[in-house]
Amino acid sequence: METAAPTNVVDIVIPAYNEEGNIARAIETLFERLQSLPYRFELIVVDDGSSDRTAEIAASYAGRYPVRVVRLTRNFGKENALLAGLDLARGAATILMDADLQHPVELIPEFIARWEQGFEVVYAVKESRQGETLLKRLATAAFYAGVNRGADVDIPTNAVDFRLLDRAAVRALCSIRERVRFTKGLYAWLGFRTAEVPFVAAERHAGKTTFNRGRLVRLGWDGLTSFSDFPLRVASTIGALVAFAAVPYGLWIAVRTLVYGVDVPGWATLTVAVMLLSGVQLLFLGVLGQYIRNVFIETKQRPNYLIRDIVDADAAAALQPGASRDSPPTAAVAMVRSGRSAAV
Ligand code: UDP
Ligand code: MG
Repeated sequence: METAAPTNVVDIVIPAYNEEGNIARAIETLFERLQSLPYRFELIVVDDGSSDRTAEIAASYAGRYPVRVVRLTRNFGKENALLAGLDLARGAATILMDADLQHPVELIPEFIARWEQGFEVVYAVKESRQGETLLKRLATAAFYAGVNRGADVDIPTNAVDFRLLDRAAVRALCSIRERVRFTKGLYAWLGFRTAEVPFVAAERHAGKTTFNRGRLVRLGWDGLTSFSDFPLRVASTIGALVAFAAVPYGLWIAVRTLVYGVDVPGWATLTVAVMLLSGVQLLFLGVLGQYIRNVFIETKQRPNYLIRDIVDADAAAALQPGASRDSPPTAAVAMVRSGRSAAV
C-alpha cells in the first residue's frame, strides 16, 4: 500500500460532510494561495457520506488541479474521514484542514516553515474562544481537565484539527486503528517533535456546524473513556467514601437504638440514603458500561470506514468531452477508476 513518498509532495486532507457551500471556495483558495510554495500540493477531499453536491463539486476540480475525491459509503464521522484521507496520503507531509474555511490557508506556509525546521507535527492553536458560549467554554475546560488527569499524555486544550504531519507521523497515526477514535488524543499519544502555531478561527463560510451539543458531548465522552480512567477512579473513590461513611453511621444507629430504643422517625433519612446510593450506583454502572461498550466496539474489528469510490485526475480526464458538470451524482460513479469498494 505504501508507495515511495516524493519529497516535494504535500497532501492536504479535507474531510467534508455536506459542504456544498464551502468546498469550491476552499479548493480555489488553497491552490491560489499555495502556488508560490516550492511544493506540489495534492488535495484529498474525503466526502463523508454527504447528501448534497459536495463530492460532485469537488470532483469537478479533479481535471484542473491535483485533487482526489474519496467517497465513503456513508457518514462515518470526522475522525474516520480523517483516517481515510491519511491512509491515502503519500506525500512527504500531510496537512489536515476543515472544509468550511475556518482554518486560514495563510497558516500553511508557517506550518511548512516549521516542518522544514525539523518539527514532525505542527498544529494550530486557537488563540481565543471568543464567540463560543460560556457553557461551551466551561464544558471544554472541564473536559480537558478530566481527560488530562487520567491520560498518560498531555492533550493540549486549544489545539484544533488543523495541522501538518510528517510522513513518519502519518504512518504512525495510520497504524492506530482504534474505533472509539479521539484523534486529538491520538496526536498527543504519538509524541514526535511538535510545534504550535497560534491563530484566530474564522467564522464558518457557509452552512452550519454538525458538531451540535449532543455530538460534542458524545465525542467528549468517547475521548474521556478512550484516553482516561479518571471516571472509573472517581467512581471507586466515591464508592469507597460512601462505604466508609456508612460504617460509623451504622454503628451510631446501633448504639442509639440500644440506648434510646427504636424510634419511628428516621425513615426520611433512610429513604434519602437509599435514593442517593442507588443513584450513585446506577451512574457508575453507566460509566462502567461505557468502557465495556468501547471494548465491545473494538473487539468487533470492523473497518473504520468503507470507500465507495475514488475520483482522481485520471478518472476525470476519462470523462466524455461535453459531459455536463451538473450531471447527476450517478455520473460520478462512471468516473471511478475502480468500482470495487475498498475496505481498509
Ligand atoms: N465533518 C465530517 N464528517 C462529519 C462531520 C463533519 O467530515 O460527520 C467535517 C466537516 O465537513 C468539516 C469538519 O469536519 O470540514 C469540521 O466540521 P464542523 O465545521 O461541522 O465542526 P466545527 O468546526 O464546529 O468543529
Ligand atoms: Mg467548522
